Amino acid sequence: MKNCPVCEKGKLVEVDDITSNLDGYIFVVKGERCTHCREEYINEKELQPMISVAQKLGVWGQPLKLHRKLSRSARGTVLRIPTDIEKDLHLKGNEQVTIAKQGNNRIVIEIE
Ligand SMILES: [Zn+2]
Repeated sequence: MKNCPVCEKGKLVEVDDITSNLDGYIFVVKGERCTHCREEYINEKELQPMISVAQKLGVWGQPLKLHRKLSRSARGTVLRIPTDIEKDLHLKGNEQVTIAKQGNNRIVIEIE
């Protein structure tokens, strides 16, 4: 059994009930789960079919990862949404969003 690379305390045990939520579609896949921190690792073999199903459902989307620099205005820090993402999500610019902090270097913006 492998040790968990995240907490380094638990062992990775094989499971077949890892659920992955992609845009409301739940995928149940095989993989490994840490006995200590419960971190889940999806088998790479399982990941590929999941991605192709998700692509067919149109919930995977192209990997839109773009680099942008934050700017500063009098009222705070401003992030301009790249045009590609704006078009892809059909943003009008008046949507309500939820901004969540994940860890120390990630911000997730969810359109309500
Ligand atoms: Zn762990």
